[in-house]
Amino acid sequence: MKLSEKAEEILEALWIAEEEGGAFLDPEKISIPADDPAFTELTGHALIELRQGMVYFRPEGREEGRMTIRRHRLAERLMMDVLNIRGEAGDYKACQFEHLLNEGVDAKVCTMLNHPATCPHGKPIPPGECCAEARALGDLGVVPLTEFKSGQEGEIAYIQTEDSKKMQKLMAMGVLPGNRILLMQAFPSYIFRVGFSEFAIDTNLAREIFVRK
Ligand SMILES: [Zn+2]
Ligand SMILES: [Zn+2]
Repeated sequence: MKLSEKAEEILEALWIAEEEGGAFLDPEKISIPADDPAFTELTGHALIELRQGMVYFRPEGREEGRMTIRRHRLAERLMMDVLNIRGEAGDYKACQFEHLLNEGVDAKVCTMLNHPATCPHGKPIPPGECCAEARALGDLGVVPLTEFKSGQEGEIAYIQTEDSKKMQKLMAMGVLPGNRILLMQAFPSYIFRVGFSEFAIDTNLAREIFVRK
């Protein structure tokens, strides 16, 4: 389905509203007025419904929203991880780029990025068929350290945290992209070796280290 960019933005905003525990989107929360043709476009395709001025998903719309948010977050990952464009410039370009990632292209980008589970802001990327296939084949390239078994070794791909203190703590341990990491113990805490040093961290921190097998 080819929707206008504004219509896709509405679907994304509604998806995020649901993700944050809401049931509907208040059009006042986004900078698209309620009488914008994008709303008529979405109701015309039976993707949303408007009740008492609020926007609700219809089931087909939720699926469309899921794919739209998936493209958006994949575009963010591509901007930040591969093209190294960050901050507002990255956000803006991701918004432009996501609209180009339609059918088929999103799977290629997803595969190139090793089927990432989260966007750079830590929000979940809804998995596509490519992710399910890669998981079934066991070739999910990059996984959180928590999916490693003790004795398993890999290369650190990236650290996924918004918290600069955690980031500094990990960097001080030598947990940096490109370094080898050997998981020595996974319970009750995660003990790993980087270089010649061993460190122990809790599950929450281990979940933020992404490792290539
Ligand atoms: Zn994001
Ligand atoms: Zn995938």
